[in-house]
Amino acid sequence: MSKERNTKRDLVYTVKNRCRVCYTCVRECPAKAIKIINGQAEVLNERCIVCGNCTKVCSQGAKVFLNTTDNVFDLLKSNKKKYSNSSAEFSCRI
Ligand code: SF4
Ligand code: SF4
Repeated sequence: MSKERNTKRDLVYTVKNRCRVCYTCVRECPAKAIKIINGQAEVLNERCIVCGNCTKVCSQGAKVFLNTTDNVFDLLKSNKKKYSNSSAEFSCRI
């Protein structure tokens, strides 16, 4: 299965070739942040509160969180200087 790149760096997005346009995520999104656009269930980034509900209810695995784990491991393996922010908190758009 092909992996779609999230070029906009949205925290939650749709893997388009997995979406079967069943409307489950549209109905279950508490922020009404998902719309069918051009035949695909798209996350409206400006409305999304990053609750993750759509990633749980989609039976096709078409809603996913942005995963930067590989980037972090690549950075740790590199010789570049690394900085850490111990006061960082996970933010939620409300
Ligand atoms: S629940 Fe999954 S398959 Fe159904 S519309 Fe949403 S993203 Fe597409
Ligand atoms: S993460 Fe939550 S708010 Fe964002 S699109 Fe999914 S269900 Fe809606």
